[in-house]
Amino acid sequence: MKALVKDKPQVGLWMQERTVPEIGPEDVLIKVRKTGICGTDIHIWNWDEWAARTVPVGLITGHEFAGEIVAMGAQVTGLHIGQRCSGEGHLIGKLSRQSRAGKFHLDPATRGIGVNEPGAFAEFLRLPAFNVVPLPDVIDDEIGAILDPLGNAVHTALSFDLVGEDVLITGAGPIGIMAAAVARHVGARHVVITDVNQMRLDLAAEVADVTPVNVVHEDLKEVQNRLKIVQGFDVGMEMSGNQQALDQMIDSLVMGGRIAMLGIPPGKSPVDWSRIVFKAITIKGVYGREIFETWYKMIAMLENGLQVRKVITHRFNVADFEAGFGVMASGASGKVVLDWG
Ligand code: NAD
Ligand code: ZN
Repeated sequence: MKALVKDKPQVGLWMQERTVPEIGPEDVLIKVRKTGICGTDIHIWNWDEWAARTVPVGLITGHEFAGEIVAMGAQVTGLHIGQRCSGEGHLIGKLSRQSRAGKFHLDPATRGIGVNEPGAFAEFLRLPAFNVVPLPDVIDDEIGAILDPLGNAVHTALSFDLVGEDVLITGAGPIGIMAAAVARHVGARHVVITDVNQMRLDLAAEVADVTPVNVVHEDLKEVQNRLKIVQGFDVGMEMSGNQQALDQMIDSLVMGGRIAMLGIPPGKSPVDWSRIVFKAITIKGVYGREIFETWYKMIAMLENGLQVRKVITHRFNVADFEAGFGVMASGASGKVVLDWG
């Protein structure tokens, strides 16, 4: 089969012939149809310090996918050949206290496909049947291929009650934009999204009914006044990984405000804790998706009118994967989807 492999410890990925994975009794084999390129894949492409420390050379990359089950292990039940699916890319252990309590997304032994284990940038993917998420007909393959990052957005957005609340999202990357759409869908009053990249702010306004703010040119306080957000934002979602953005968020929050933090700051990041204490702010770190409650909610919302398709700005045949990674790395895109035929 064809697969996109981190074949050398240097910049790039390489298309190679690999053998189709063998499956165990509790696994399924998935024929991959579409995959999404993630910011994580760009780190792996660039072979930055994190990637060099984390990803084994020779690994098949990729973790955002949709496809169809073509083979099943002897002990798999409840699925069938031909089932369209996506799946949770975090492979969990079953031994930790958290897993045994049913909090699978908090298992410390989690390993990621396309990061630690063979991934989805391939014609075929082996996945534990446990991780399979069947897709209803209303979710086509390209939306199925971005459920992993949509799940990050949903997990973050549903961390706090948003009904009637004023929400600030810092970072209009694909995940920030989708979180904005989710916040509106579930009933936030105002959703303000900030970035320094005007193309992405324009995209945010196209995808969802939100107020985009370019913090390079615009004063967030003025926007707050215009929207009559008198005391400050009730809920913040940090989705940039940028220190200034987090600072601005803490500054803009109401007393007792809540922050769900998905963005990953590079290294240690200085924080003025006294402001967090005196404002009585709650900060929740968000990792991955709740397994499988986030998947359930996300599919239910997509069935109930949540629209995120416009966040996909580029589609390529996998033969043109270099162009796809190029546009994703440029910042001049939303989600980029590769078609595996
Ligand atoms: P992205 O890099 O595409 O988007 C981040 C955006 O933040 C960019 O558009 C950038 O221009 C913007 N930004 C930079 N400085 C800013 C500032 N001062 N104010 C406002 N915006 C600013 O990332 P993404 O793929 O959308 O992911 C969002 C974040 O979540 C990233 O930090 C990513 O690493 C992280 N992430 C975390 C998890 C997790 O499980 N915790 C999963 C996926 C992604
Ligand atoms: Zn991803």
